[in-house]
Amino acid sequence: MKFYRTDLHIHTALSPCGDLDMSPSTIVNLALKRGLDIIGITDHNSTKQCKMVWELAKKTGLVVIPGCEMTSREEVHCLGLFEDFESLAIFQNFLDNHLTLIPNNISIFGFQVVVDENENVLEEIDNYLGASLDVSIEEIEQKVHELSGIFIPAHVDRPRNSLFSQLGFIPPELKIDALQISKLAIEKAVRQRYGITPEITLVKFSDSHYADDLGKTYTLFEMEEPSFKELRKALLGEAGRSVRIPE
Ligand SMILES: [Zn+2]
Ligand SMILES: [Zn+2]
Repeated sequence: MKFYRTDLHIHTALSPCGDLDMSPSTIVNLALKRGLDIIGITDHNSTKQCKMVWELAKKTGLVVIPGCEMTSREEVHCLGLFEDFESLAIFQNFLDNHLTLIPNNISIFGFQVVVDENENVLEEIDNYLGASLDVSIEEIEQKVHELSGIFIPAHVDRPRNSLFSQLGFIPPELKIDALQISKLAIEKAVRQRYGITPEITLVKFSDSHYADDLGKTYTLFEMEEPSFKELRKALLGEAGRSVRIPE
């Protein structure tokens, strides 16, 4: 068993608020340089940049988990992470069917581009990806789990766009695999403030939108190997595996 530095919440230039410098090659190079073992690509309401990051990392030791940060109808941000690109494609279809259609205003929200390994623009997304989906957080969770994905409400301690800011509590029907706390949060304080019981796993990820932030925030996953299946087992605490937020 080994500890793997894991950050499963990273934005690319595809996110309207993501810096244009966050290209696939920059993300892979910086993640390696700064000692991360596993990263998750989670742009707002789109999965279209995941494959390129995964392709570039394939030849290196870095493991890339494809995913997305969804905005529910209640304006709650939540992460979905997937084992393979077949599930990801089905999930992209779900996003396409449910995104509220608002044209992106570049001067206000910024560019939303899919780029290749040389940072050539392959596609520009016209609809604003920061809009919400027309489905509830429960419906999103069910879709992620139907595709055998991992579902984690994002930055739950934040005063906006979080489970606690929007709903005030964890809906009893919602099947969460963990809760993500934001980069400056202290686990103990968040547990106390929101009454989060010990059987709920907390993870801390960077939510990086800028290159500077990458690698500074991570959670240690103690596992047999750096894979999606092992991540799931670690979140469940199966057979000696564990998840630990560094002090
Ligand atoms: Zn968010
Ligand atoms: Zn985010």
